[in-house]
Formats: sequence, C-alpha cells, structure tokens
Amino acid sequence: MIVYKFRLYPKRAEAEKLETAKEVCRQTYNNLLAELNNGFTKNELQNFLLDLKVVNPEMNGVHSKVLQMENQRLFGNLSSLLALKKKGHKVGRLRFKGKNWFKTFTYNQSGFELTHIRGKKGILWLSKIGDIPIKIHRQVEGKIKNITVKKSNGRWHCSIVTDANPKRACGTKEIGIDVGVMNYIYDSDGKVYENPKHFDKYHSQLKIAQQSLSKKKKGSNSRKKARGKVAKIHEKIANARDDFIHKLSAKLIRESRFIAVEKLNIKNLMSISYNAKNIADASWGKLISYLHYKAENAGCVVQDVDPFCTTRDCSFCGHRNNKLELSQRKFICEKCKRKLPRDYNSALNIFVRGKELASMENASNTGQIVQQEASMKSEAITSNRC
Ligand SMILES: [Zn+2]
Repeated sequence: MIVYKFRLYPKRAEAEKLETAKEVCRQTYNNLLAELNNGFTKNELQNFLLDLKVVNPEMNGVHSKVLQMENQRLFGNLSSLLALKKKGHKVGRLRFKGKNWFKTFTYNQSGFELTHIRGKKGILWLSKIGDIPIKIHRQVEGKIKNITVKKSNGRWHCSIVTDANPKRACGTKEIGIDVGVMNYIYDSDGKVYENPKHFDKYHSQLKIAQQSLSKKKKGSNSRKKARGKVAKIHEKIANARDDFIHKLSAKLIRESRFIAVEKLNIKNLMSISYNAKNIADASWGKLISYLHYKAENAGCVVQDVDPFCTTRDCSFCGHRNNKLELSQRKFICEKCKRKLPRDYNSALNIFVRGKELASMENASNTGQIVQQEASMKSEAITSNRC
C-alpha cells in the first residue's frame, strides 16, 4: 500500500459540492450513530441508509459508496473502542461529530477517475462532484483502492491509496514524538534521542574564525580567505545536522507504522531568545518534513497534531494543569499527582490526539485505534485554547 497526498484546486461550483458532500457525510455519520445507540447492527444500518435517503433527499447528491463508508467509519471506531476496553483502558462512548471535527470523506473502489494531463497537471473526477484540477507531484503507482478528500485550513487535498508495494518497509510501532531542547526527541514509548548539539561542537571553531575575520582589512585577500573559513564551518554544521536528521527519520520510519508529530511554529519558539540557538540547531522542521516525505514511500502514517496544551494536560487523567515553567523538567499533575518527565507526558498526549485525528481522517482504516478520552479532551481543547 502506498498513500499519495495531493492538493486539489476545485472551481467554485465543485468546491461548493465538496463542502455539501462533507456536511451530508457528517450528518449521516451522526444519524447512524444515533441508530447504533438504539441497538442496530452493521447490516441493519446499511439498509437504514436507504430509509435515511427518503427523508434526507440531499443524500442523493452524494455518491452512494461514500455514504456507505460512513457506516464503515462508525464500526471501525466502535471496534477500536472495544479493543481498548478489552485491554483495560477507561473509555467512554462514541461521540457525535461537530463541524470542526469532520474534515474528510472517502471514495472506496469506485466513483473516481484520475487523469494525468502533462507535467504535474491532472484532473480528478469524483462522482456527483465533477472534474477537479489536481497537482500530481509524484507518479502514482499501482491500482487506486480508495481516495479520501480532506479540507484543512481552507484548502482541499486528497489521499490516494494504491495497492503498489512501498519502496521502503515501515515497522510496527505506533508512537507520538515530542521534540525538545533538552532531548531532541522523546517518544510515547519512553525512548529518548539526545540532542546532537552540533553547533556546540563547532561553536568555538566558529567563534575564532569569526573574530579573525572581523580583524581583517576590508577588500584584502586575507579577509577573503577568512570569510571562506567561516563559510566552511557553517557548511560543516549544516552537513552534520542534515546527516543526523536523515538517519534519525529513516530509523523512525523503519521502526514504526504510525507517528504522531507536533505541528511546529518555529517562529514562536525562536522568540524565546535563550532557546533560539538550540532550536535553530535542532532544526525540527526539517525532521518533520523528512518524516512526511519518507513515510509516503513506506506506507507509514505521519499525523500532524496541534500542540496546544500538550505540555500542560495530564496524559493520565486529562486535567489541565497551570502553566509549567520551561525550566521545570518534571510534570506533576495537580489532580492525580502523577509524576513523569515533562516531554514524555507531551509525547503521550501527542500520540492519543494523533490516533484520534487519524481515525477521523481515514474512514477506510478500520484498524485505527480511537481513544474516546482523547477525543473528549481534544474537543474540549478546541473550544478552549490556551
Ligand atoms: Zn492527572
């Protein structure tokens, strides 16, 4: 299985149809959930879809298999929930989905056609929607199994799943990772990857070279030479950093099939001046883009997660604690008194949020685990940002 992610550029009429289809799918999911709570089985709900169409004629504007996928999504979420319950996790009920929590719908097996025109230009035809211009930045290999359409930040994208064999193999672990200054990465299995601090290693060399440069006369040959030396050290740092990030991202993909990562706002982090040097050195943005890129070739899922409050929320009881100082490396929950490394707590929060998002964004993946507690927490967070 290979998953390709492409950007869609629908014209106004098609964009409106996509919007309507997404909303109809959300209402269908919620209607099916209501009937599930009344004790209906999967097959009964499949038939119930036909009854729903009679009272909700707008459902006829959506490809029928797309609506059936909502039943799949519902039962996928339910079986993951039961699996967690079996393992002894404290889980709640499936929840009705609000507009902000419903971003995707899926075409499975039929109702689509992808045409490559030339260069990166292509057309994706979707049943009941029409032709949508698509930017195909990589060649699609294999037979297309399903297409999930997604709206995020006002833009439309699609994930195309094919049956082709990935070029590299991914592992079996499912993790969330927190990136930090003290430790480069802390993962939700408790594994730590140290910050390489390449800059520190070369810092003294660089300082001497920069001082020497500043003493040289402008326009002189020796100044030219000194400038070359400074540039060379900068290049060494960049190469060492790049090498480290390449190796680390390859290792993480080799070991895992699911990785939840923070959506980083490097600019905000850089504004905390005493951290700036380390953060620039750590270059997490690059790591995350390498993970995304390598995951596409390996059939591994890398899920972005909003990082708000991941450091403050208790990963055990969900209580939102008062702001932690950056210097405070241990997380101690005010409510349940649980004590664990600060970055480890964040990694656990990132993991459960990532799993929840991944399952909502991919109706066809019935193996995804949904942790209801995480869902409730996340929905509360959306309405109450910190
Ligand atoms: Zn707690």
